[in-house]
Amino acid sequence: MFFLHYLDNAATTLVPEEVVQAMEEALRRHSGNPSSQYPFGQDGKDIVEGGRMVIAKALGCDKERLFFTSCGTESDVWAIRSAVWHGRHKGNHIITTAVEHSAVLETCKWLETEGCRVTYLQPDKTGMVSAQQVREALQEDTVLVSMMLVNNETGCVFPVAEVARLLREVGSTALLHCDAVQGFLKVPCDPVGWGVDLMSLSGHKLGGPKGIGALYISPKLRNFRPLLPGGGQEQGLRSGTEATAQIAGFAKAVELRLENYDEKIRHMAEMKALCLEKLLTLPDVVAVGGGTAPHILAVSLPGYPSGNIVTDLGSQGICISAGSACHKGKSSHVVSALGLPKRTAAGVIRISFSPETTVEDIEALYEALRKHQANRCSML
Ligand code: PLP
Repeated sequence: MFFLHYLDNAATTLVPEEVVQAMEEALRRHSGNPSSQYPFGQDGKDIVEGGRMVIAKALGCDKERLFFTSCGTESDVWAIRSAVWHGRHKGNHIITTAVEHSAVLETCKWLETEGCRVTYLQPDKTGMVSAQQVREALQEDTVLVSMMLVNNETGCVFPVAEVARLLREVGSTALLHCDAVQGFLKVPCDPVGWGVDLMSLSGHKLGGPKGIGALYISPKLRNFRPLLPGGGQEQGLRSGTEATAQIAGFAKAVELRLENYDEKIRHMAEMKALCLEKLLTLPDVVAVGGGTAPHILAVSLPGYPSGNIVTDLGSQGICISAGSACHKGKSSHVVSALGLPKRTAAGVIRISFSPETTVEDIEALYEALRKHQANRCSML
């Protein structure tokens, strides 16, 4: 029997049956328009507002400050473009990191063509960026700092809370945006307590469906610039008839992740540690970066191009990734930023875990990589 060993949970996650059921229920029984006044429409509204409540509670924010979007990318683009617009009378300087997701980097490049100046902070060899680097890059006219919570390729956890504190200490008026797409419900994440102004989330990284995201907007940004004008949904900031089934699925996925939360995090961390320990016994394999997030591990098989590894393992039902799935074969900007030797950089693979990952998954990966190395050697 062909058995899937899914170890690519940073690309997307498998959708639990309960999430499918919640979505099916929303589609089959509550498919009215949430803006319609009759009960059939109000059922849809209950799904939207109930879902918002669940996700906002998990994030520790007021439900009125959480806005649904169509994905993490949309949340990032909205947050960054509107934050820059918000600060337009103060300046046009942005600070971000060179290892953000392309949703952030491409938006920053786009803003450069419109006259903004962007400082891209380089990570050290472990993939980390420090609050001190932000301090040194700050200028009088810095209007936005955008820093991710967890890097999607190295699993590095960035010091977002420290950056928020630093901005307060130095009296900067720059807004702080955090792309928490990989961090939410994996590592501590507290936008309100930390004083983060904007935070992006995505449903499909934690068992929810694709096509749903959210943006937290701090209460201090009451007049935040809308993304989509139109029918006035999402308090007039992001119009468009609400994606009820997607929202139902996102909220159910969050509820499921919160059940025995500590146990799930511990399990992912154990699977990651076990996987690293086993893979390091293979010839020449090295760990890449110093990522401490429980669900992302990067290693390199120097001399074995990662694209070939991914294809070979994929044909055996083992799903891993060669850096971010968004790169589609192009070499990863994150791996490039780590300054690794060429052979090491070319062999970087990302293995990412979920609460459902098993020891058998890791053994299957180990065996397949062992054979991959052996076959390549016997061909030489
Ligand atoms: N930000 C990070 C860190 C990601 O890893 C991803 C997806 O891989 C995104 C943003 C984009 O999220 P979405 O796929 O929901 O657009």
